[in-house]
Amino acid sequence: QHDIPDVSFKTWIVPIQPYSVDGDNITLVYCNKKDQSSSSADLGISYIEKKYLSLLEATTSEVLNRICHLRLISDAEKKKEETRKTSNSSNNIAIQNLNPAYVFDTFVIGNNNNLAHAASLAVAETPGQVYNPLFIYGGVGLGKTHLMQAIAHYIIDNDPSKKVLYVTSETFTNELIESVKTNKNSEFRNKYRNIDVLLIDDIQFIIGKESTQEEFFHTFNALYQDGKQIVISSDRPPKEMETLSDRLRTRFESGLPVDIQIPTYETKMAIINKKAETLKIDLPNDVKDYVATNIKSSIRELEGALTKLSAFSRLSHTPMTVEFAETTLKDLISPDSKKEITPEYIIQIVSEHTHVSADDIISKKRSAGIAYARQIVMYLCREMTSAPLQAIGSALGGRDHTTVIHGISKMQEEVANNPQTKETVDILIKKINPD
Ligand code: ADP
Ligand code: MG
Repeated sequence: QHDIPDVSFKTWIVPIQPYSVDGDNITLVYCNKKDQSSSSADLGISYIEKKYLSLLEATTSEVLNRICHLRLISDAEKKKEETRKTSNSSNNIAIQNLNPAYVFDTFVIGNNNNLAHAASLAVAETPGQVYNPLFIYGGVGLGKTHLMQAIAHYIIDNDPSKKVLYVTSETFTNELIESVKTNKNSEFRNKYRNIDVLLIDDIQFIIGKESTQEEFFHTFNALYQDGKQIVISSDRPPKEMETLSDRLRTRFESGLPVDIQIPTYETKMAIINKKAETLKIDLPNDVKDYVATNIKSSIRELEGALTKLSAFSRLSHTPMTVEFAETTLKDLISPDSKKEITPEYIIQIVSEHTHVSADDIISKKRSAGIAYARQIVMYLCREMTSAPLQAIGSALGGRDHTTVIHGISKMQEEVANNPQTKETVDILIKKINPD
């Protein structure tokens, strides 16, 4: 409202309403009450996209303290999505967990990922018939989740009667724990066995726990024997998963293990070009080259860099130059790639994982979700850094050390008594310090 003329604000921004949030992807609906013809809605949307979307994106990202992607749809499209959701929900539990942007069309093929891409497409075309299980492995931010969800989308789009279930291994574990606690194991088994395709993301978080491995082994066998497709992703190949039981390792290796490697310069350039096109930003070649050369190991970071550049340049009306890129991206492009574990870094990872913004974590707010995330931060700072209580308190918006002690002991109790919290904390520890 501060940044644009009043009349523009009333005309273009006021009619926009929030619709859904999925991680960093936020969908907004533009509904102009006065004129509901679809052509004028489309016109309005394309105008807003051109003129205000980056401003909205930048402002949202600033407020939430993380890079967000906004998508604007019309009222008519919203209704369509709603009916699609309800008609799918009976068959497809997966669709609700899927990011609509993660499809084959938006996946750029390079020589770092062409094998994984080809295998994924083959599996999507003929589920259960070619590579089973398909095991995709590779480092963080290289496209594993994107490929898995592309498989899910493809199968559902081609045959809506197919039951496809995409879950993270954290969800699998938490649902298993919950089912044991509430004596609903048969429900759990029903859910995971009465399906045609099971995609489990980040399997490395399941291994290392006897009971979850055991249950997963049974789920795997039941589906496999019925010729159902299984797709698994992991941050490393089966043979490097130390705590994986031998019989699961054999199963994982029996299908097709494919890896995604760090992208080459050419692949990074291709992704930058595609992304610049969707973000509708003009990037001079030397800036593209700067980003492709300096962002080394993650496509997620590459995307983050582009969003940040586009948002900051429009917001500050600064032309897109290499100097501008250098200053804007200096946090992303650090000379020493090994991240030091600091309270700030822990706050960032906990924020990403719990979807509680960093601002809320360090704020005075006391609502349950925020307080929980904050206590996890306190606990992890104690466990993973040598920061004194005072430093932990000041990283958390200037809390005194008694508050920190209180938070830590509450969380210690939670971790000891609540297996779900223990699970979440374990995953966070691995995310913060993967080695
Ligand atoms: P991972 O699961 O391996 O950590 P993701 O699948 O979440 O990585 O990918 C991180 C981001 O990079 C996603 O936004 C994804 O769309 C994007 N991405 C990764 N690989 C590609 C690719 N080949 N083409 C286009 N986008 C990609
Ligand atoms: Mg992933």
